[in-house]
Amino acid sequence: MGLLDNKVVLITGASRGIGKSIAETCVKQGAIVAFTYLSSEEKARALESELTANGGIAKGFRSDASKFDEAQSLVDQVVESFGTVDVLVNNAGITRDTLLMRMTEEQWDEVITTNLKSAFNLTKAVQKPMLKARMGSIINMSSVVGVKGNAGQSNYAASKAGLIGFTKSIAAELGSRNIRCNAIAPGFIETEMTEVLDQDVVASWRNSIPLKRGGQPEDVANATVFLASDLSAYITGQTLHVCGGMLM
Ligand code: NAP
Repeated sequence: MGLLDNKVVLITGASRGIGKSIAETCVKQGAIVAFTYLSSEEKARALESELTANGGIAKGFRSDASKFDEAQSLVDQVVESFGTVDVLVNNAGITRDTLLMRMTEEQWDEVITTNLKSAFNLTKAVQKPMLKARMGSIINMSSVVGVKGNAGQSNYAASKAGLIGFTKSIAAELGSRNIRCNAIAPGFIETEMTEVLDQDVVASWRNSIPLKRGGQPEDVANATVFLASDLSAYITGQTLHVCGGMLM
């Protein structure tokens, strides 16, 4: 028996990195997985084959999380395919790092729209099936950077801090309908997003983390399964730090 048996889990941005690991872990726990991607068509198709290889149920959808109408149409398609949405994981995210002095309006808007507005788009769209079912779990992928800020990431930090405020507000609004909403704040997780960083900087980060290693996507996926499952039935409005003790 899995922790997510027959629950329909919708994950945005799962063609690679953390989202991919969340999809894999959810299927292992018995979930029916709908996942999205934007540009990595081949990786998404490969993931769909991997997830369904051993009898798992999963489907990939090309959908831009930053677009309001696409989110609505995505949720309609998922409900048509699988009947409902029990769990939403707002994972899609991007960085456009630079100092404020050099940051363009486009870099600010792109990050806020992809990381923050996407959560509004998708949460609004899943509200209807979740209200109908009188249950649901929404998980927003924030970051320790949203809690503490970071030079060179003002757009990203603002988007991730915004997600925490959004999470608490949705938890307050929908708690009486048995719909929970929590955030995860990963620290330094080794994915394509962090591969582009200067390796000397990365080594110094690893050394400063109490657990002395970067996180793996599975570390975040396991926390996601916990928040998605009934094991966390009395937890809402919280931000779970998955950062090896980087931020205490
Ligand atoms: P990643 O490897 O860069 O993967 C990002 C994923 O988001 C990809 O699947 C990408 O799809 C998708 N995506 C981007 N824009 C999208 C859009 N508009 N609509 C739909 N999907 C979109 O990133 P990651 O490291 O796994 O990070 C996942 C989440 O965790 C992000 O929200 C990130 O901010 C957060 N996080 C990461 C770290 C870390 O250290 N890695 C730390 C804290 C928080 P395509 O490939 O198809 O474009």
